[in-house]
Amino acid sequence: AKVQARGEYVFFTRDMALEIRERSKLMQALRVAIERQRLFLCYQPQISLHSGQVCGIEALLRWRAEDGRLIEPARFIPIAEHSGMIVGIGEWVLRMSCFQQAELARHGYPQLSMAINVSVSQLRHPRFLATLQSALHDSGASPQLIELEITESMAMEEADFLARTLESIKALGVKIAVDDFGTGFSSLSYLQRLKVDRLKIDRTFVGEIGDNERSRRIPELVIQLGHKLDLSVLAEGVETAEQANILRELGCDDAQGYLYARPMEPQHLVEWLRNHGA
Ligand code: C2E
Ligand code: CA
Ligand code: CA
Ligand code: CA
Repeated sequence: AKVQARGEYVFFTRDMALEIRERSKLMQALRVAIERQRLFLCYQPQISLHSGQVCGIEALLRWRAEDGRLIEPARFIPIAEHSGMIVGIGEWVLRMSCFQQAELARHGYPQLSMAINVSVSQLRHPRFLATLQSALHDSGASPQLIELEITESMAMEEADFLARTLESIKALGVKIAVDDFGTGFSSLSYLQRLKVDRLKIDRTFVGEIGDNERSRRIPELVIQLGHKLDLSVLAEGVETAEQANILRELGCDDAQGYLYARPMEPQHLVEWLRNHGA
């Protein structure tokens, strides 16, 4: 079978047909999961490499399947984006994370920031700013401690739109981090135009940082670039003390990864914080 798409012929193989069937099954299952409230957030601490103290938390989405298994966001976020379900899911994530920040403040952690992943398709939605405002208002979260993590995946034609949206977000006092920095396109022209607060070095760079001197050069450059632009820099996916030491020597500000903690369910978070001197 062949289908014409944008003037090109795309041949469907058996594998592609299977894949499409698989995706629509997953999409259907995700709809049901949302209805049955099977989605929840886990929280992973972020640590200051200067002080060794916890400085923030990232909220990470999880889906518990009916059989108890966890389905990874890498599998269902793309489907949620494709189907538009990400808008509703993202609103819920935003609200939950803001409430969690306020809750942590009440538990005696008024200084911990909350990083929230936001898809570009959420940002494109005309309701986004209103959603963010009401999440802040209803939860009583401190805007300065809310940080939206955005992946640099937007087409360049949309740069004006993105710049305006980010400016409105910043006007609320909310911070912005560029996620997976260095893995996308046109990173540097983005930084020139967009007002962001933080760069997150992707874990693919961090994983190789101990290998040899050459593998440090990109993280080193990202750290220097960030600091030249007055941005803080966080390295994700830090799994070993050696990686943390190298990053600290390179001047990286903060780190996040299994070395410190895996993403955990909310009921374990306060206990973890208490045990880790935060
Ligand atoms: P990300 O934002 O780059 O998140 C970092 C991922 O690395 C997370 O995977 C985290 O669990 C994992 N990780 C943290 N420390 C380590 C480590 O030391 N080693 C290794 N190997 N992995 C580590 P996760 O939770 O599976 O999330 C995958 C991606 O899904 C995220 O990548 C993010 O792009 C997306 N995502 C997660 N939650 C949300 C959400 O609420 N909304 C949106 N739009 N996207 C989300
Ligand atoms: Ca992230
Ligand atoms: Ca990443
Ligand atoms: Ca990512």
